[in-house]
Amino acid sequence: MTDPLTGKTVTLHDIDPSLVKITPNPNPGTPLPSEKLSFGKTFTDHMLVIPWTSTEGWAAPEIKPYGPLSLEPSSVVLHYANALFEGLKAYRSASGRITLFRPDMNMRRMNRTAERIALPTFDGQALTELIASLVRMDERWIPSEPGHSLYIRPTLIGTQNALGVGPSTSALLFVICSPVGPYYKGGFKPIALLATTKHVRAAPGGIGSYKLAANYAPGIIPQLEAAMEGYAQNLWLQGKEHFLTEVGTMNLFVVLRGEDGATELVTPPLDDVILPGVTRDSVLALARSHASTPITGLPPSKDFRVLERPISMPELVRASKESRLLEVFGAGTAAIVCPVDRIGYLGEDIHVPVGEKGMGPICEIMHREIVGRQTGVIPSDWAYVVKE
Ligand SMILES: *Cc1c(COP(=O)(O)O)cnc(C)c1O
Repeated sequence: MTDPLTGKTVTLHDIDPSLVKITPNPNPGTPLPSEKLSFGKTFTDHMLVIPWTSTEGWAAPEIKPYGPLSLEPSSVVLHYANALFEGLKAYRSASGRITLFRPDMNMRRMNRTAERIALPTFDGQALTELIASLVRMDERWIPSEPGHSLYIRPTLIGTQNALGVGPSTSALLFVICSPVGPYYKGGFKPIALLATTKHVRAAPGGIGSYKLAANYAPGIIPQLEAAMEGYAQNLWLQGKEHFLTEVGTMNLFVVLRGEDGATELVTPPLDDVILPGVTRDSVLALARSHASTPITGLPPSKDFRVLERPISMPELVRASKESRLLEVFGAGTAAIVCPVDRIGYLGEDIHVPVGEKGMGPICEIMHREIVGRQTGVIPSDWAYVVKE
């Protein structure tokens, strides 16, 4: 890069795992018993921290005891939300092997989000290696019960002490980890959604397709409003056509019986109001692979279509009236899949069949296939090995 002031060529350092400085926690904590875990409330002994400056690039990474950060009140992140995050998990297989699930996808998305708010980008493979080192250090925090995992939260913030709105000349990347229990304790529980016409999550030309911190706090009031009416999450709509976009902070899938009787798995196409989820991509990839490598339980591939296309509430209402609405589910790292049994829309409820198991067959199959690959039951090149 050429320095705009001096005209000199400067070399900015990328993240370099070989420079990592490790300071073990002298007071390691005691993991909670697994039945006491609630999402994102307890943290492991260590965190990964990597500072960046616009003059030097990325400094040496450090793995050190989990603890407070030191920021001046003038830090840009505290004023203008120069902040973004990722979410992925480390899984322990029955044999003790520890893996991450498709971390390359998280690294690509994190870089893409960083670019959007003029925060620094980095070598995703290098950060993945450092995350693997952190997970190995905090291995005893990964619960061993089935369905449990270690949630990993990489975060990047602008740290320049300045009140002018401009690209931050310094930044901090940190990674913290939190042991989590299964999303569904004691069987699958379908949820009810409120198709929200009062608020939007993301606007065309806006930032909804980026995992920017700024996207999440504004969803809290709509979520509380939905809860007051007896719905667990918002179903976010878009435009006067009321296109379906996302569910809470998950991507959305709808299963319909097509006019010709075939089963259609539909999800809205990626655009500027849809977050490109790793789980969404995995569901689509698996469903599409069914044509060449059949997946047990799915309809024969000639009767099964996978469609990325817009779908609106009026279409959903019509499909429901014609008994062609088969399933609705959310998809995201936390829950993997989340079945929906009811959608409130313009004062009426649309009922979605979930059967005795609390989820429809396509949702259940996708859950089985993804969990299998996360836990090593089904061998897959989506698994990134942290420890054999
Ligand atoms: C993180 C997120 C998702 C799901 O992404 P995954 O990579 O599958 O966890 C979907 N929608 C929103 C708004 C998100 O923030």
